[in-house]
Amino acid sequence: MINKLNLKSLSRDELVLFFKETGLPRYRADQLLHWVYERFAEDIRDITEFSVDLRRRLGGIASINGLRTLKRLFSEDKTEKYLFELEDGETIESVLIPDKDRLTLCISSQVGCAMGCRFCVTGGLGLIRNLKAYEIVDQVISVNRTIGPDRRISNIVLMGMGEPLANFDNVSEALWRLTSLLGISKRRITLSTAGLVPGMRLLADKAHGVNLAISLNASNDKARNEIMPINKKFPIRVLLEACRRFPLPPGRRITFEYVLIDNVNDSSEDAGRLAGLVKGLQCKINLIPLNPHSGTGLRRPSDEAVLSFQKVLSRNHITALIRESRGADISAACGQLKASH
Ligand code: SAH
Ligand code: SF4
Repeated sequence: MINKLNLKSLSRDELVLFFKETGLPRYRADQLLHWVYERFAEDIRDITEFSVDLRRRLGGIASINGLRTLKRLFSEDKTEKYLFELEDGETIESVLIPDKDRLTLCISSQVGCAMGCRFCVTGGLGLIRNLKAYEIVDQVISVNRTIGPDRRISNIVLMGMGEPLANFDNVSEALWRLTSLLGISKRRITLSTAGLVPGMRLLADKAHGVNLAISLNASNDKARNEIMPINKKFPIRVLLEACRRFPLPPGRRITFEYVLIDNVNDSSEDAGRLAGLVKGLQCKINLIPLNPHSGTGLRRPSDEAVLSFQKVLSRNHITALIRESRGADISAACGQLKASH
């Protein structure tokens, strides 16, 4: 069998060059992009703007293969979870989260993750491999195709499996495609990182305007070292300095995610220290009670502990929202569906 070239693996310039070398005019490359990113074509045979002859000729040497949907699960709270298979048989997850005025897709950037955070299922897998740019973007294309023409994904969060800044080149190309080819505005895209400081600088340079979320998860280095090993390399002070330098467009804020874990980071002293750490930063805090999973020994705090943590932050004039993991009944927390597959 001939190993066909997947045209989605090419950048736009490479695609134009490929069409030129194949003896096809440039507008054919633009038509292909339109069919892939706006009409969500799955196969070159579906591109009816191409003649039957052209489809056959192109289909003989190239493909536009995407992800295979293995599972689509519906939660009682309207969250949908997708399990996708990649061309090499690996699997990744995406979660669709409908809200009043937006339809958000939470996408993965790696298969597994090297960061090893103790509370995270994906961290327990280790890094299996980076996703290619088209595998990141294809999560959006596949879900848009599945949900039909009446609904379109409006917002993207890079908060699925993997550490996006550890796969910067592919993520950066994916961000370009999401904004330029899928037409999703940068202000509707949020990248979440465990705190890779050099990657934050690159992000500010290459994708200025994308929203930044930081998984802080502790109020001092001792506790953060325990649950997020990356803190030994980029401790809280260094991370927060990088946040202060991060160029924010007017009116925008950095989001800090703080997974609340019983007896680890949930005391009122922690809340007070956290308030001190982020003082003066344009930011808001999302408090996420731990979604527990087996093998870690970590527990979710009581509701009272969560509420009093929030109260301390409010008293310090810091916006802090409690965010329950959506779709808990369908293993929607990061990595849980893959782990059970
Ligand atoms: N690697 C990036 C993005 C993926 S993790 C990062 O760490 O930011 C996305 C979010 O899920 C992070 O804020 C992380 O703290 C949170 N998370 C991971 N495991 C969780 C769990 N068991 N319960 C609640 N939140 C969890
Ligand atoms: Fe990786 Fe994020 Fe999970 Fe940490 S929380 S292991 S960085 S995916």
